[in-house]
Amino acid sequence: MIEKREFYINGQWVAPSAANDFSVINPSTEEPCAVISLGGQVDTDAAVAAAKAALPGWMAMPVAERIALVEKLTEIYQSRSEDLAQAMSLEMGAPLDLSRSAQSGAGMYHLKNFIRAAKEFQFERPLGDHAPNDRIIYEAVGVAALITPWNWPMNQITLKVGAAAIAGCTMVLKPSEQSPLNAIIFAEMMDEAGFPPGVFNLVNGDGVGVGSQLSAHPDVDMVSFTGSTRAGTAISKAAAETLKKVHLELGGKGANVVFADADEKAVKRGVLHMMQNTGQSCNAPSRMLVQRPIYDQAVETAAEVANKVAVGPALEEGRHIGPVVNEVQWTKIQDLIQKGIDEGARLVAGGTGRPEGLNKGYYVRPTVFADANNQMTVAREEIFGPVLTMIPFDTEEEAIEIANDTPYGLTNYVQTQDGARANRLARVLRSGMVEMNGQSRSAGSPFGGMKQSGNGREGGVWGLEDFLEVKSVGGWALE
Ligand code: NAD
Repeated sequence: MIEKREFYINGQWVAPSAANDFSVINPSTEEPCAVISLGGQVDTDAAVAAAKAALPGWMAMPVAERIALVEKLTEIYQSRSEDLAQAMSLEMGAPLDLSRSAQSGAGMYHLKNFIRAAKEFQFERPLGDHAPNDRIIYEAVGVAALITPWNWPMNQITLKVGAAAIAGCTMVLKPSEQSPLNAIIFAEMMDEAGFPPGVFNLVNGDGVGVGSQLSAHPDVDMVSFTGSTRAGTAISKAAAETLKKVHLELGGKGANVVFADADEKAVKRGVLHMMQNTGQSCNAPSRMLVQRPIYDQAVETAAEVANKVAVGPALEEGRHIGPVVNEVQWTKIQDLIQKGIDEGARLVAGGTGRPEGLNKGYYVRPTVFADANNQMTVAREEIFGPVLTMIPFDTEEEAIEIANDTPYGLTNYVQTQDGARANRLARVLRSGMVEMNGQSRSAGSPFGGMKQSGNGREGGVWGLEDFLEVKSVGGWALE
């Protein structure tokens, strides 16, 4: 059993102010795998005080030196990526191969993109030729609280820490209590990289405790949050009293619009994308809208592909998907699958219960619903499990209407060989991101949503800007 009760505050590992043990459960076995401590107000205050004290020095440090520390971090990250992968598989159930590649790899990817973006970013620039005595200065927002979820933990931690650090913010990270181990390893890496004490602090805790304490804290200038829309609303309300900046990355219910002229792999690709990380991705293409002429064939293909998706323990190598993160999520997914059946969607693969041969562990059957309409619960709610909902459509206008008829707006997908049509859709789909024909977005592109999917943009130059204030100076002396 791993025991990691300490917090990282002001450059040191410190004991929690009070005993408040929390068992981390291995979702592959349902057995406890680690014990951490949940912090309280005293721990939150200590971490925020350390971040506040470190702020002036960190802001004053030349940006090149801050970048150099993040570069050092990438070297250490490389050497510890296997530790990170093992921890994530153990605590949140991503299969080892995925943990080693995408889960752990995402962190390195984001840190490198921030370094590249920062080297080109003008932290001070003239307003324009018409106003030689005006300056625009990009300045750190201040003390940032970083609250992260369990589904892509290292992805989300590096998106926040990398940008905040380069921007000159000091920070307190509160990772998900469901997946604290990878965050603790990350804190060890920050320590080894030599960030000055207080620049980065980690306090474990839950949402109602450390999460809301950080959101309401008068000395926290900004909260950067990724997680559920429910928690995003609670954080926004708690932050309103002190009018802090709130940056939100929330859920999604992405449409994958498959036109009759889509390439022949489009349906298979869409199903596998949905099942990746056991469906626990906010940008999952969870509603597959298929044009009528190819609809029946698409349903058949989707069912075949889903039936072939293997499910198994996270710490085993292989191309299977793992369990979902915990019992609460497992039960929620079961209820939603049942709701799909009750509301009349046609179940063509999977269903309720565990996959054959897996009696213990939070395993879910890869599930596909066909003949759904966009008002059904399985088309409206973010299921956060390996469940795909298929909806037929006739015209481009109808597809756009269905795709946009959701409170979310994170990522939509378009499959067509008609380039002009793909571009038309990219312009009218109400989401922060659109990906076409299986082509993902490139390094340094911004990740974030519209509507109830949030308001932040993470990654690359946009991610840096989220941690920066814009200061406008008149009467700047020309040197
Ligand atoms: P969550 O929003 O409850 O937790 C995410 C983080 O926020 C955790 O660190 C948690 O401790 C913290 N938190 C929770 N309530 C808080 C509060 N009131 N104040 C401050 N911090 C708070 O998400 P979850 O329980 O991990 O997952 C539940 C649902 O969230 C999922 O089913 C899914 O729909 C959604 N989700 C979305 C994403 C995403 O990337 N968009 C990621 C994870 C979960």
